[in-house]
Parts: sequence; C-alpha cells; structure tokens
Amino acid sequence: MAEASIIDGKAFAASLRKSVSRQVATLQELHGITPGLAVILVGEDPASQVYVRNKGRSTVEVGMNSFEHNLPNDIDQETLLALIRQLNNDPLVHGILVQLPLPNQICEDVVLDAINPEKDVDGFHVINAGRLATGGKGLTPCTPRGCLMMLKKWLGDLSGKRALVLGRSNIVGKPMAQLLLRESCTVTIAHSRTRNLADECRRADILVAAVGRPRMVSGDWVKPGATIIDVGINRVPDTRPGAAEGKMRLVGDVDFGSALYVAGAITPVPGGVGPMTIACLLANTITAVCNTAGVDEPEV
Ligand code: NDP
Repeated sequence: MAEASIIDGKAFAASLRKSVSRQVATLQELHGITPGLAVILVGEDPASQVYVRNKGRSTVEVGMNSFEHNLPNDIDQETLLALIRQLNNDPLVHGILVQLPLPNQICEDVVLDAINPEKDVDGFHVINAGRLATGGKGLTPCTPRGCLMMLKKWLGDLSGKRALVLGRSNIVGKPMAQLLLRESCTVTIAHSRTRNLADECRRADILVAAVGRPRMVSGDWVKPGATIIDVGINRVPDTRPGAAEGKMRLVGDVDFGSALYVAGAITPVPGGVGPMTIACLLANTITAVCNTAGVDEPEV
C-alpha cells in the first residue's frame, strides 16, 4: 500500500521564519522600525514557561525585540490590566500576547479584550474574531493560520474542496473553519455532539483534527487520498519497543500509523502544526507592526 506524503511543518516553519527576518530587515531599513513583541506570563506553569521561552528565543532570532513580563500566580486582575494598558500605549511594543491559561482569579475574556486589537497577535480579541467571521482585515489566530498556509502550499487552490474541522474551540476549530470558508471550501464543523462522526470524516477532502483526544481519528475514518492536518498534542505513555519505563511521548488526534496508508498527505506529531504556530506568531507581529505604524507589509 502506498504511504501518504508527510507534510513537514518544521521545514514550512523554517521558511516562514526566514521570510519574517527579511521583512524585519526591510522595516528597519525603510521605516526605522524594529518590531517588538511583549509576552506576559502569569504564574509558573512549566509548560507555559517552555512556550514563553521558545517564543522569546524565536522573536530575537528573527531580529525583533522581545519583552517578557513574568507575573506572580496570585496577581490581581487590575494589576494585569494596568500592564496591558501600559503595553497598549508603548510605541516600541507592536504585539502583545498573554500566555494562557490564566489563574482562576482572573477572567480570561476580560484580559484578552483589554489588548488593543491592532496589537492582538494571538488573534483572540472579539474584534479580530468578528473581522475574521465577516471577511474583514485583522489578526488571525496563529495555529489555524499556520494550518491554512500549509494546506495552500500543499494543495494550491482549495476552492470547492470538502473540509471537515473536528473541534469548535475559539482558538483553533472556529477560526480554522472560517479560514477554510474564506478559501471557498465546503466546511463542516464537528464536535462532541456530532452524530456519525466517522462518516462525516470519510467525506472530507481536507480533515483538520483539533480535539485533544489521542489517536481518535483512525485510518478507516479517512477518505482515500485526503489531506490531514493533525493539530492535537497529547502526552501518552511511550509503549514502543525499547522505550524506557514511564517515558511519555507526544501523539496527535489522528492515529498516524493507520491514517498513513489511506491519506494522500498528513502532518506528523510532533513536527507538523506545532512549529508553524510560533512562526505564525512572528508573521502576525509583522502584520501588527504594519497596522499600527500605517505602513505596507514588506514583500517577502
Ligand atoms: P478544546 O478542548 O478547547 O476543544 C476541543 C474540541 O474537540 C471541542 O470543540 C470538543 O467538542 C471537541 N471534542 C472533544 N471530544 C470529542 C469527541 N469525542 N468527539 C468529537 N469532538 C470532540 O481544545 P483546543 O481547540 O484548544 O485544542 C485541541 C487540540 O489541539 C489539543 O490537543 C491541543 O493541545 C492542540 N493544540 C495544538 C496547538 C499547536 O500549536 N499544535 C495549538 C492549540 C491547540 P465540544 O465543543 O462539543 O465540547
């Protein structure tokens, strides 16, 4: 049986980061602007600390300024909002990101909506969600933006294709569906109440899985030749022969082993969608710079 092509997210991300560094150089040369990205981390969640560190490193690597704000876990909402207001008014800061999740005493929606929508590089502000839904120009959430970039590079014109998005979260599923609709796909959004989920999946030319359930989508749910984007990141015990006792590994929402022999192309986990997310954060920061400074986005 023929194997699917592997969509190499690391390679896509490396190429996007290269384009972004060229754009940074152009913005400096033509307008004297060095893009600045501020990341706020509340508390000491180890996974969040790793994400924030990686974001900071990638920001500096493409020539941008990185501003990191680490706040204690017991901080009150007003203090956090005051920092966001300060960053909203700081001309050196073009993008603001608040690392999620936030501690219980803080309301996530209030915090996200306090960010100036033009600096909202995560694209979670209600204004940017509205712009995406209505076809306006705005900042798009990084993970779906990365998925769409890979799909377009891989498949070219997506118009008329049947796409199924599995998951309806505000950060992945819904914006992903909006982006595919913009590309004139025929879009179905599936979730935990969807009936005959396997049949729905089998109809899809493009299947984007964002559920957070390890290997839920098996090969017999996949249409032969379909393109699969696996967003899921799930930590499971590593039971492969030779793996050390108690070792964990990352798997996606798709059962890669069985889907590989049915799909036309598939993103691996790790090495698929994940690397594109941070690269798209940098690309969104360029968009934010151009929106706030009123300059055209440099060609890549
Ligand atoms: P959420 O938990 O917010 O949403 C999960 C969605 O999946 C919900 O819409 C839920 O349906 C649906 N769902 C859950 N169980 C089932 C089921 N058994 N059958 C059908 N649908 C189901 O997750 P996120 O969107 O935040 O993330 C999804 C996955 O993507 C996670 O593994 C996460 O770690 C990963 N992720 C990866 C990123 C990356 O950079 N690669 C970035 C962001 C997320 P309902 O709404 O009905 O509850």
